[in-house]
Amino acid sequence: MTSMNRRNFVATLGIAGTALLAGCNGSEEATQTTDDAQTTDDSAEEASYTLVKEGVLTNVAELGFSPFEYIDEDGNTVGFDVDLSNAIAEKMGLTCEWLPNQAFDTLVPTIKQGGKADISIAGVTITDERLEDVDFSDPYLNSNQALIVAASSDYATEDLDAEDIQIACQTGTTGDAWIQENLPNATRVPLADVTAGMMGVSTGSYQAMVIDLPVAQNMLAQSFSDLTILEEIPTGEQYGIAVSYDNPGLKDAINAALAEIESDGTMDELKQKWFGTTDI
Ligand code: GLN
Repeated sequence: MTSMNRRNFVATLGIAGTALLAGCNGSEEATQTTDDAQTTDDSAEEASYTLVKEGVLTNVAELGFSPFEYIDEDGNTVGFDVDLSNAIAEKMGLTCEWLPNQAFDTLVPTIKQGGKADISIAGVTITDERLEDVDFSDPYLNSNQALIVAASSDYATEDLDAEDIQIACQTGTTGDAWIQENLPNATRVPLADVTAGMMGVSTGSYQAMVIDLPVAQNMLAQSFSDLTILEEIPTGEQYGIAVSYDNPGLKDAINAALAEIESDGTMDELKQKWFGTTDI
């Protein structure tokens, strides 16, 4: 494979590196002893589920949510969720594919509708409202919200609850809902793209933005040193993997894989790799 083809291949699968490709292609299963292979077969039989593409766990996400899922400078889809989805697929004896970018507020409807993606692992908070439409795996990460302003501004949070204040958010997110509930007088600016919101605060088009705390911390440190977190908002959210209610065996198989990923140290490795700490 030429390096160009290789890059396209990796980008298509949304897999960050060769080691993960090796882990994801089922070769480990092929070298297992008969006993182990039998165990694998048994568990595959128990976990009966459907997939939109045979042998593949197909994920749909919004790809501008660093460090969970984003496109790196080589055009590869990378991040904590990408590594986690690869690890889950590997435990299930599957490969994994990430569909092209979709707006965040289309992810739950896509899973509900079915036929296009099996799961959405995309920093999606488990909420009662979303549970009306889709099921979720066990939680895999805790999160809160962050209220971001220009570092040069001297706002207090209560100053932002005014009509002439424009507050950016990503459309349909929990940050969007938080603004509506807690700063109802502000002018909310729902956007498809998180970076566009931060750029807007940076240039003064918007006075603030509300987005998940780990993403705010990451993006401010990487690209927006002129912005600051005015307030950490303890919403106590938990991320889960959205699956269709029509596919309960898939949820069970994902939960079994997640439990292994927690107990065998993989989860801590991934947290360390992407957040520099296991304490998240
Ligand atoms: N966790 C937030 C939510 O579920 C934001 C997710 C995202 O933008 N990817 O609404």
